[in-house]
Amino acid sequence: MKKEYKLALVGATGVVGRVARKILEEKDLPISEYVFFSSYKSAGSKITFKGKEYTVRELREDSFDEGFDYAIFSAGGDTSKKFSPIAASKGCIVVDNSSAWRMDKDVPLVVPEVNSDEIKKNKGIIANPNCSTIQAVVPLKVLDDKYGIKRIVYSTYQAVSGAGIKGINDLEHGNEDDYELQKFPYPIINNCLPHIDVFLENGYTKEEEKMINETRKILNRPDLKVTATTVRVPVINSHSESINVEFENSFDLADLVDTLKNAKGVIVQDDVKNNVYPLATNATGYDEVFVGRIRRDYSVDNGINMWVVADNIRKGAASNAIQIVEEMIKEDIGLQ
Ligand code: NAP
Repeated sequence: MKKEYKLALVGATGVVGRVARKILEEKDLPISEYVFFSSYKSAGSKITFKGKEYTVRELREDSFDEGFDYAIFSAGGDTSKKFSPIAASKGCIVVDNSSAWRMDKDVPLVVPEVNSDEIKKNKGIIANPNCSTIQAVVPLKVLDDKYGIKRIVYSTYQAVSGAGIKGINDLEHGNEDDYELQKFPYPIINNCLPHIDVFLENGYTKEEEKMINETRKILNRPDLKVTATTVRVPVINSHSESINVEFENSFDLADLVDTLKNAKGVIVQDDVKNNVYPLATNATGYDEVFVGRIRRDYSVDNGINMWVVADNIRKGAASNAIQIVEEMIKEDIGLQ
């Protein structure tokens, strides 16, 4: 096993990049060299990381010539489309947070608790799923394995941090005189916007389409019936989701709850007599997916409703990507 690795963090100055730095500081990975990249805008700025000062570098076509083992990209789809293949051609494995590669048949779409076996099939690029999909499939996978999922209905309540710094600004500063909205088409203060990403010809949003297609790919159920309504809400961080699931097989509710309690990466918070259920404010700062309000759906033969909350910047982006890098280090998966 190679002892020490070299990692590039692309988009190190953004919302996801900042949290990725914090998580990397918390972890003791065998990475001896880190390089932080941004666009020309933040290039030259200083970052303190693990007690040492780094200068952020502008990402350029020759940036990967010096040799990297892994790169985590959190810099948007266009940047990833252009630079991930360049990085991979130089022997660096890219874990990409954007939507650019997720549905590419040659690119594994990975949530380590669900399908870590896919990692070794990579050809230089691994995609991190959409934040709202990651937190949903963690509890859904164990239920699919045990009871066979027939249909899923997603309704999401997504935090503004999922829209990056501009989204956070619209909530934090939207009440100030002369403030011009940076991200959303309407004020997010006092509103729920049923509009995340662009509208498609069929009336769905791209975010809804991502949830549908990515769930099928990750669960390896290409024909699974899935539908979604995704909504932006005036919450700073952590996405909440109401998930309605119909199963092929009958189930005992207590047994189903136990299955979730024993699932890797899941914490069940379900004690309604004492008002215990997952909350965005409690999930923020954690890597687990919190599940509660688990109850039978009496309108179908074998169905449940549940309330699923997770930190969209951590489990929904940065920590999922870092978990993938950790798995690669553990298995010594590399291109070089
Ligand atoms: P953000 O706060 O707007 O940050 C964007 C980052 O990308 C900044 O560091 C920016 O650098 C950098 N960047 C932009 N263009 C670049 C270029 N040409 N070359 C190199 N770096 C460039 O956005 P974010 O919320 O962190 O999201 C980043 C990515 O993660 C997006 O693809 C997003 O879809 C995905 N994602 C976000 C979430 C979430 O919950 N926020 C969840 C899952 C996935 P400058 O500082 O120089 O502008």
